[in-house]
Amino acid sequence: MQENTLYFERVNHWALQMIDFVKQINSEMDEERITVLERLNKLEKLTNDTTYPNMRLIQEMEEEMKKIQRNVELLCCGKQKPFRSRIPIGEHSLPSLPYDYNALEPYISTEIMKLHHTKHHQSYVDGLNNAEIKLKEAREIGDFTLIKHWERELAFHGSGHYLHCIFWEVMSPKGSKIPKGSLLKQIEMDFSSFTAFKKHFTEAANQVEGVGWALLVWSPRSHRLEILQSEKHQLFTQWDTIPLLVLDVWEHAYYLQYKNNRKDYVNKWWNVVNWKNVEDRFNKAVNIKWKSF
Ligand code: MN
Repeated sequence: MQENTLYFERVNHWALQMIDFVKQINSEMDEERITVLERLNKLEKLTNDTTYPNMRLIQEMEEEMKKIQRNVELLCCGKQKPFRSRIPIGEHSLPSLPYDYNALEPYISTEIMKLHHTKHHQSYVDGLNNAEIKLKEAREIGDFTLIKHWERELAFHGSGHYLHCIFWEVMSPKGSKIPKGSLLKQIEMDFSSFTAFKKHFTEAANQVEGVGWALLVWSPRSHRLEILQSEKHQLFTQWDTIPLLVLDVWEHAYYLQYKNNRKDYVNKWWNVVNWKNVEDRFNKAVNIKWKSF
């Protein structure tokens, strides 16, 4: 019980700080500001009055705090709208670089940056838009004869576009030699030291066979950082996406019962989909919002 009371005190403190912060935000979204302040005041009152907080209330409060935080983020960046949010089908665009083409000299030449950004990245954007439109057409007319081709294009150009969006952002002319704070702590926990991490990542990059990427990723499943190589990013995923619903069509998943009749298996499978679970995954996943291009 004491722990719960302590939790309430903390939430109360958070709410008070947020109230101060929201009042200071320089935003023209006055209505939204009032709504957020109302919610914060309610939370502040609740955590002030309740003597015997219970688990259910705490869970509700966690949800409420997340929602408030999202609204505050919107309030902060509402003006410049960095989150264009939903990209309509076929409307991806080339992001502008967060620095000049010559900014990474002498480490990366102006010529490379220009070519890489305006030619290579642009062609991923165009290819992705095209694949999305072709797949939309296929859905509309119900003709999926070229689905393998267009799914491959979707993966190849999608990964290309999304990974380059990350790539430009993770570089800077004012780069620092070592991360700080929670990321550094996590790296040290998962790779034993920053030096060991750097060596591993460097080797992974050096030894990618042919073309591809070296990636530091976060696994929400194992709660760890991991280093991956992606040879040929088109095979066959769109990096930077989160799986929601997956269907195993390896033979071991159906052969004993359905023999080679995969169609029958896939059709029947729809009877056992746990949409509640997919929805839970979706609701968690939508909380991650990168700038959209
Ligand atoms: Mn590239």
